[in-house]
Amino acid sequence: MEDKFERYSRQVLFPPIGESGQESLSKATVGLVGLGALGSTIAESLVRGGIGRLIAVDRDIIESSNLHRQGLYQEEDAQSKLPKAEAARKRLQTMNSQVTVETHVLDFRANCAEDLFSDCQILIDGTDSFETRYLINDLSIRLGIPWIYGACVGATGMTATIIPQETPCLACLFPDPPPPGSGETCDTAGIIAPAAQIVAALQVTEALKILVGDTDSLRTGLLSFELWPFRLIEIGTKNPKPNASCPACSKKELRFLDGEHETEGIVLCGRDSVQIRPSSVARMDFADIEDRWKTQGTVEGNGLVLTLTAEELTMTLFRDGRALIKGTTDPARARQFYARYVGS
Ligand SMILES: [Zn+2]
Repeated sequence: MEDKFERYSRQVLFPPIGESGQESLSKATVGLVGLGALGSTIAESLVRGGIGRLIAVDRDIIESSNLHRQGLYQEEDAQSKLPKAEAARKRLQTMNSQVTVETHVLDFRANCAEDLFSDCQILIDGTDSFETRYLINDLSIRLGIPWIYGACVGATGMTATIIPQETPCLACLFPDPPPPGSGETCDTAGIIAPAAQIVAALQVTEALKILVGDTDSLRTGLLSFELWPFRLIEIGTKNPKPNASCPACSKKELRFLDGEHETEGIVLCGRDSVQIRPSSVARMDFADIEDRWKTQGTVEGNGLVLTLTAEELTMTLFRDGRALIKGTTDPARARQFYARYVGS
């Protein structure tokens, strides 16, 4: 065995990988969106496992409330409010200097998606935003490369392996993103670390199968689990096919990538505010949202709008999902705040 593979010897001994699989891994470029709970675990496993190059993107700053589940970060990173992408790169590089680790501190949007990930053989979802997942889905169709969906909240998780033109894409499974404000997020419902670790482990396993060329062993269908109490559900496991009328993978209408469907953040001049316009118009359930917000900050409502003050920002949410976020002129920061408390 060549010296450069000595560190991977236990992985090479596993027959489905072997030396040729390790060689393939060492030449692979993987794109990762998000370096939070899923992204931390995914990045660490791939870098330790000896892929050639990791390209990862994240817009957030490390906070102390990330530390219980985001294994790449330490207390001092939160104290110095480091961007996740920056701290992750430094940490990952110490784990395996053979791997090229490129990270970008930015809001993953349609205008940068293709440039960032055009060299990748696979994309992995480490995000917590549905809109971003539809963008990853569009990008995977455009580039003709697989991607691995992953999501977790509370003690639940979900994942699917999506190969364009071979398996159902995200838009085949769920034609539209859920309306903003309709679902729980980790910031409102909480999360336990194992839920994220299990989803990430499932995602990395599928990625390894793809990268070593063992696609016959891929798990098919949508896997969903609940850890507490325990329940496992698999949907559509028998040779699922793409939907022939799917606008995304069949008709190639890539509306998220081509920019017609993004949550917009418009800076309002002279008002220290950003207006957020969600990608789909929804009727907000204020009672439900107020319930979730109560533990997060100061909430006020008058029936027409709901106001949340938290993290030095004040968000005024309208019934149609539009929001004014006061206290910043940074659209990325405003979108992040919106995604966190309303969902996207
Ligand atoms: Zn589709």
